[in-house]
Amino acid sequence: MPKHIAVIGSGIAGVTFAEEIRKLERQLYVTLLTRETVGYYSRPLLSHGFSRGDIETKIVLKSFAALVAGDIAVESGAEVLWLDRPAKTLHFIKDGKEKPLSYDKVVLATGSDALIPPPFRAQASLFHVLNSLDDLASLRRLREKILARHPRPRWAVIGGGLIGCEISADLTKTGDEVVLFHALPRLMERQLVEEDSASLLGVLRDKLGIEVLLDKAVQGFLGSGMDLSVRLTDEIVPGFHGIIVACGFRPRIELAIEAGLETRRGIVVNECLATSDHDVYAIGDSAELPDGKLYAYVTPVRSQGLWLAKHLAGQETQPWQVPAFKPKAKVPGFEAAMPYLF
Ligand SMILES: Cc1cc2nc3c(=O)[nH]c(=O)nc-3n(C[C@H](O)[C@H](O)[C@H](O)COP(=O)(O)OP(=O)(O)OC[C@H]3O[C@@H](n4cnc5c(N)ncnc54)[C@H](O)[C@@H]3O)c2cc1C
Repeated sequence: MPKHIAVIGSGIAGVTFAEEIRKLERQLYVTLLTRETVGYYSRPLLSHGFSRGDIETKIVLKSFAALVAGDIAVESGAEVLWLDRPAKTLHFIKDGKEKPLSYDKVVLATGSDALIPPPFRAQASLFHVLNSLDDLASLRRLREKILARHPRPRWAVIGGGLIGCEISADLTKTGDEVVLFHALPRLMERQLVEEDSASLLGVLRDKLGIEVLLDKAVQGFLGSGMDLSVRLTDEIVPGFHGIIVACGFRPRIELAIEAGLETRRGIVVNECLATSDHDVYAIGDSAELPDGKLYAYVTPVRSQGLWLAKHLAGQETQPWQVPAFKPKAKVPGFEAAMPYLF
């Protein structure tokens, strides 16, 4: 059994693993490194971030102090910069100082960023994303600023996948006006059968009053401040106070690439969640399994954290199996008739 395990990331993957391995192996030294400062929070709850006034406190599931009390060393506000695999040392920066930390095993639980389509990348000042608690705080501040000048904020949400539909529904719950742009002819085409996409469209349009524009490939944005337009191939749609891009997720794999580990869309792991270096593991949104899939939902991510802890403690010898899980769009009034696709 290794003596020191370093875990990078304090999302559900990293925290679940750290707490479980601490429970199973009392002799082990566990360090959790994260760039977060507030604590371990629920990312799914971000989708209710506009309509719930108490969200910024209720979303925190565990403080870092509680993890420290559970005998996990926590380096918060710390950015891991690189892994020196031959020396089994990682390097992180905290409070402006770079520090080394040696490890016997390291678990990459680095999660995912919002995916920004290439045409939008040069226009980052014109739109927001909702991927982290910091993103939510900055969107809530923007909404307050809009409300100070306009009684009814008008938003463009780009992307009719799970997160785009959820954000649109939550914004309308607050009374805001939303136009949802989707490049394809039906909503949530990756997760829903056609009939369910149609019923979701009915709920968003007819029950929630969202203007849904299908088959509209957004090319970019125009304007400044609270006077923004969305540029389509042959048309410009004006009059938005804010724009939110929700076009999917991008696994954070930079540390793995720089460390020379095998990566594709995610960090490539085997059926035991080990990367191409058997002292380095990857779990959660950043891990790509041998079936080529990324299991970016809380149930499988949590299951990976628990499984890996048991495996390293010698209690689990069978490969990780995908647990039964049911993704669900958090859109009030919508229930899919058929199981979600994955
Ligand atoms: C708006 C939204 C709604 C969602 N709703 C649902 C839902 O309803 N149901 C569901 O099943 N799933 C949902 N998901 C997906 C789910 O939240 C993710 O699958 C899950 O949170 C992934 O957990 P993770 O620990 O792998 O990654 P993350 O939660 O992304 O955590 C990664 C952590 O690593 C840290 N980190 C990364 N790189 C470094 C570094 N170099 N140095 C230090 N720290 C680093 C990050 O700061 C972060 O704390 C939703 C996601 C979003 C964004």
